[in-house]
This record gives sequence, C-alpha cells and structure tokens, in this order.
Amino acid sequence: MPTEDPSTPRLTSTAGAPIPDNQNSLTAGARGPILLQDWQLVEKLAHQNRERIPERVVHAKGWGAHGTLRITGDISHLTCAKVLQPGAETKMIARFSTVAGEMGAADHERDVRGFALKFYTEDGNWDLVGNNTPVFFVRDPLKFPDFIHTQKRHPRTNLRSPTAMWDFWSLSPESLHQVTILFSDRGLPVSPMHMNGYGSHTYSLWNDTGERVWVKFHFKTRQGHRHYTNAEAEKVIGETREGYQEALFGAIEAGEFPRWAVQAQVMTEAEAQAFPFNPFDLTKVWPHADFPPVEIGILELDRNPDSYFAEIEQLAFSPSNVVRGIGHSPDRMLQGRIFAYADAHRYRLGTHYEALPINRPRCPVHTYHKDGAMRFFDNAPNPDAYYEPNSFGGPQQDGAYLEPPLDLEGPAGRFDHRDGGDDFSQPRALFALFDDGQKARLFANIAAAMRGVPFKIIERQIDLFQQVHPEFGSGVCEALDALDPQF
Ligand code: NDP
Repeated sequence: MPTEDPSTPRLTSTAGAPIPDNQNSLTAGARGPILLQDWQLVEKLAHQNRERIPERVVHAKGWGAHGTLRITGDISHLTCAKVLQPGAETKMIARFSTVAGEMGAADHERDVRGFALKFYTEDGNWDLVGNNTPVFFVRDPLKFPDFIHTQKRHPRTNLRSPTAMWDFWSLSPESLHQVTILFSDRGLPVSPMHMNGYGSHTYSLWNDTGERVWVKFHFKTRQGHRHYTNAEAEKVIGETREGYQEALFGAIEAGEFPRWAVQAQVMTEAEAQAFPFNPFDLTKVWPHADFPPVEIGILELDRNPDSYFAEIEQLAFSPSNVVRGIGHSPDRMLQGRIFAYADAHRYRLGTHYEALPINRPRCPVHTYHKDGAMRFFDNAPNPDAYYEPNSFGGPQQDGAYLEPPLDLEGPAGRFDHRDGGDDFSQPRALFALFDDGQKARLFANIAAAMRGVPFKIIERQIDLFQQVHPEFGSGVCEALDALDPQF
C-alpha cells in the first residue's frame, strides 16, 4: 500500500528501512507456509514478546501526571536549595500507586497509596518518594521484606493471606499507627486528587552557612478529602477497575488541574536531641502543636503523559536523589530505601535507567560511569577523559556542594528497635480525632479484614488495640461479633 498522503510518515523497520507491505506475510505461494526469512514478521513478533518489563515488586499499579512546584513561602534562611527559594518554579512529575496489588489490581482497594514526586531542578533531580500516610508499618528496613511478603500472595495458595497480615501486625506493635490509618476512612481515597501526600521520612535542610535543620514535607489536598466505604468501593470496582486512572487522566484532560498545598515541619538539631522519642522513627509523626507546618508552596498537576509506558512505567524514583540544600537524616527506613529504590530500578529498567528521557535530569550530566546494557549517551565532553583524575578536561568535583558534616556517635551494635518504644500514644491521638461514625467504620473495616484469621492471632491483635484505647479493643470485638456471633 503506497503512502499517498505526503504528510503521512512512511512506515519503517526499527533499522529505518521502509516497509512495503504491513498486511501480508512473506509466503511460498498464495496458499503456502511463511518463510523464516520474513524479517518483518520476526521483528514484529519479537518486539511484542518484549513489551513488558518486570513490574515493581511493590507499588506496581500506578497513575501519574506532569506538573509544576511553585514556591510561595520563604524558607531561604533554612536552605540553599534552589528548588525551594521564594518564587522558584520547577517542572516535576508525580506517580501515585497502591502498594500490594499487581499491575492489573483494581484501583479502589483499601491500601496505602504511594505519592512519589520527581522535581527536575537545575541542580539535578530531587525525588520525594512518599505515601498518603505520614507513617509506616515498620521502623527498621530489616523488617521490610517480611512485611511485604505478608501483603503479597501466599506461596502455596497463591492468594492474599489475612492470616499472614494479622500475624505479622499482631507481632509488630510498631505497625499499630499505620494499621489504624489504613482501616480508617483515609485508607480508601476516592481518587489520587482527594488525598494528602507525605514525604513521611525526616529529611534535612541546610543553608550556605552550614546550619542544618530536620524537616518533614506534607502535601495537603486542595480538592478536599474524599473516601469510599468498603461497600461503596466494592460497587465502584464492579463497574470499573481503573477508577483512579480515569479520574486523574479525565480531570487533567478537562483542565481541572489538581493542587496540593506544600508544607514543611521543621525541627532544630537541639530540639531533636531533647525530643522525648526518636524523631527519626518512621512509625511516628511530629505533633503539629509542637512543630506547626509552614506553608512553602503549591504543587499542581497539569499535563497527562503521552505514553503511559515511557513516562509512568519507566519513571524511576529514589530517595537517594537529593540536591544541594536538602539532605537525608538518621531515619533507618530512609537509609534502607536509599539503597533499595535505585537497586530496584537497576534490576527493572537497567544500569542506565537515569538516562531514559523521563528520568534524565534537565541539567548537564557528567559521570565516569562507563558501559553496560543500553549505554546510549555520548562520551561528553571528551572521550579521552573516561577516568579520574585525568589531564584531559574531564568533569571535576565541586566542594560548594558538600553537605555540612553530621555528628554521629555510639557503639555499633544491633539494638532492639522496640526498646522503650511507645507504639500506642500516637494511634491513641489519632483515635481521639475520630467521631463516632469514623470509629464504627474503623471497627467494621478491621473486623471484615480479619475473616478467616485464627482466633489466637485475632486475640493478640485485639490486645494491642486495647492498649491504644479500651474503646478500640471492645469496638473491634463487637464488630467481629456482628459479623459472626460464634466469634
Ligand atoms: P493534630 O490534630 O494537629 O493533627 C492534625 C493532622 O491530622 C492533620 O494533618 C490532619 O490532616 C490529620 N487528620 C485529621 N483527621 C484525620 C483523620 N481522621 N485521619 C487521619 N488524619 C487525620 O494532631 P497531631 O499533630 O498531634 O497528630 C494527631 C494524630 O493525627 C497523629 O497521631 C497522626 O495519627 C495524625 N496525623 C498527624 C500528622 C502530623 O504530621 N502531625 C499528619 C497526619 C495525620 P488534614 O489537615 O489534611 O485534615
């Protein structure tokens, strides 16, 4: 079929050769078999076989969009980060996700949501890999693979296992805070636009005089909080399994750009020393009364990706990506993720995943990393400068980017991360925020999720709820009774 319209591009092979016929295979006669030398057919079939890459082990199902971060507040006394200076506008991309479900999972499942942001700053990419909750289930990354095993499929039944989930949670009281949020109304948002995002980890900010403060980032929805009950979500899933994609994509196509107010909680190093609990413990928040959030800007999503695969599936975040003026903290979960996220992408996407167009920094990149699969960038600026030090004008370090030193002390050892840990007062503070309706739904959601779980595990978990608040323990018992009076 010749191309008659000169404005229509000519179909080619991946090597650029024009394709004369994309409808008929190369055969021996009109009724005969196909010849192996039909390289066009081979190329098409081979490409189709390779259209998938390993899905993320966690956060496989996601929805994303491009946008802008605008800084409207002034925290320039705390940080020299250009992206956080008053008036700064930075292009960014967001990816929201569920944690446990696979790529084909329904969007409206009760689960923690990922809230991951990549800011293309002039000093390199800054990634904040947050959630829609300010805390997490565990505080030591050594526990993370075990926790995720309980959220995924049982090795023999290949089914999700409520027994594994509640067994792990009931043996891990540090999970109580996140479990309470997960089964509360906010555990099932109507869409990505109707939930908050939290950087969750403690990061640091540092300024040109080398002063450091600790910081937590919050992204407060401007669309309002909206949530489904379990029953409402079941109905929605019966109608569509792609409700988040439809809502986010549809809103942006219609010009209804979602926004979040960006806030920061700030703690000085001296305040951290005097703090009654470990301020770097990811199972806890910093109370607003002690550390009031400061408004720093607005995040707006305003453009849908043109290719979901290229821009969302290949989008790779890592908390290792910080920029001058923003640093890490002694948060152990953060340290685990600094390794694990970049490592996941090297496995999933390949060694040079940061060079893919969606991940590529918008500033110049000069590294001495060399070859490996899919190496497709230039030998810039000089092919002779492929090691360091060299005499050929290769890229050099810049001490202006050195983070102020951090005082670390104490003997190396494996300390009990639960020692002295108060796992109850913050879930109690959250429970106190719930009205009667919210409490009733919390109890019912928990009871429904405990179906089929052995009695001794339920008993152990109820003992933990009891320690949060007697009303919490008895409420869950009554909800279990209502489901099954034999309980
Ligand atoms: P505050 O009463 O000052 O906490 C207010 C925070 O709680 C706000 O961020 C608010 O989010 C959030 N919140 C309000 N209602 C609910 C709810 N039903 N479910 C989940 N979050 C809710 O008290 P504290 O700072 O002392 O925190 C009390 C508890 O609130 C904590 O134990 C924690 O569980 C929860 N929380 C605290 C956060 C923090 O950073 N301090 C952040 C999020 C939750 P919004 O303004 O969007 O409604």
